[in-house]
Amino acid sequence: MKTLRDITVAGQTVLLRVDYNVPVDTSGRVTDTARIVETKPTIEYLRAAGAKVVLLAHFGRPKGRVNEQLRFAALVPGISQVLGVTMEYVREAIGEQAQAAIQALPPGGVLLLENIRFYPGEEVNDPEFAKALAALGDVYVNDAFGAAHRAHASTVGVAAFLPHAAGLLMEREVTELSKVLEHPTPPVIAIIGGAKISTKLDLIKNLLPKVDALLLGGGLANTLLLAQDKAVGQSLVEPDLIKTAQDMLSEKLVQPVDVVVAKEMTTSAARRVVPTTAVAADEYILDIGPATIQRYSEHIASAKTIIWNGPMGMFELEPFAQGTFAVARAVAASGAYSVLGGGETISAIDQLGLADKVSFISTGGGAMMKFMEGKILPGIAALT
Ligand code: ADP
Ligand code: MG
Repeated sequence: MKTLRDITVAGQTVLLRVDYNVPVDTSGRVTDTARIVETKPTIEYLRAAGAKVVLLAHFGRPKGRVNEQLRFAALVPGISQVLGVTMEYVREAIGEQAQAAIQALPPGGVLLLENIRFYPGEEVNDPEFAKALAALGDVYVNDAFGAAHRAHASTVGVAAFLPHAAGLLMEREVTELSKVLEHPTPPVIAIIGGAKISTKLDLIKNLLPKVDALLLGGGLANTLLLAQDKAVGQSLVEPDLIKTAQDMLSEKLVQPVDVVVAKEMTTSAARRVVPTTAVAADEYILDIGPATIQRYSEHIASAKTIIWNGPMGMFELEPFAQGTFAVARAVAASGAYSVLGGGETISAIDQLGLADKVSFISTGGGAMMKFMEGKILPGIAALT
């Protein structure tokens, strides 16, 4: 993968692909600025070199058509504020207006082009569209790790037509995630939770041979319980995957020994803590229990490398957040090299204010998952 050190950016017009597909509230305010904040180093690097910085990004799913609700217009003040620059914005990504805006941009200036997914050529990676994008600049830099699992025109196609490199965020993501996959300091543990086992199967399969222990929690542990003939009541399960779950069982898989159950998924529901052998027919498993927390905390405390994705329970409901929060605190206190990712996992660590106590939080979401599954990401492959 080429990096910024491999290309010349001084005085160039740089097309910088970023991932600004950020969560917004109903008034258009950005509620989580992490993905914007993390692009600052690359933008500053390019500005300091006197480059014109032309940002390419997508927002939501307009499916190749102009969608007034998904214009970047509403986000421009918020993004500018986070970046600490006066960012220009133009209501198209290719065409005369875009060209004129780039022309007018001074060296060191920053311009955001319109939502790239307004164009039908983007998601199908149409070479003509990629060529039109490439015509806007001299150099292509990709900092959108969160979109690197998509082979689109702005993440893959355009790289074929211009000198290209990874931005500093992309480089950091690849370095940090590769480090835990390829040469982690042992003992290595993975903690995998979340809702459905179907979404984490490939992740578990890729990590198992690399780790000393893989701790399971959340809804996805239910299917494993079922696969071992334990009753799970009304709990979230994927019965189609029982056979797959049986084949997955290994000494390295550490499973809950007790769970928190309730008859309703509400904050006011009466709870009980039971061994995993004693879940009643009308109950839901909604968190790991205290004995499991104790066991998992010991594993975490003795690890030197930790990979964490997925909450241990339905932590959005406060009574069922203890398992997730205990794991978060244990990871933060462990002193281990810790890498985590996943929307809900990050939200849990943020709620506790512990984000700066872990080693690396991936901005990747789906892309991080694919990377940790051992897959080649097209957006990264295009930067060689
Ligand atoms: P991440 O976004 O961190 O990758 P996932 O999206 O895989 O995590 O899963 C997060 C969701 O899993 C949370 O919304 C949480 O409520 C849900 N979840 C965790 N444990 C359970 C459970 N026992 N039953 C139902 N849902 C659960
Ligand atoms: Mg999620």
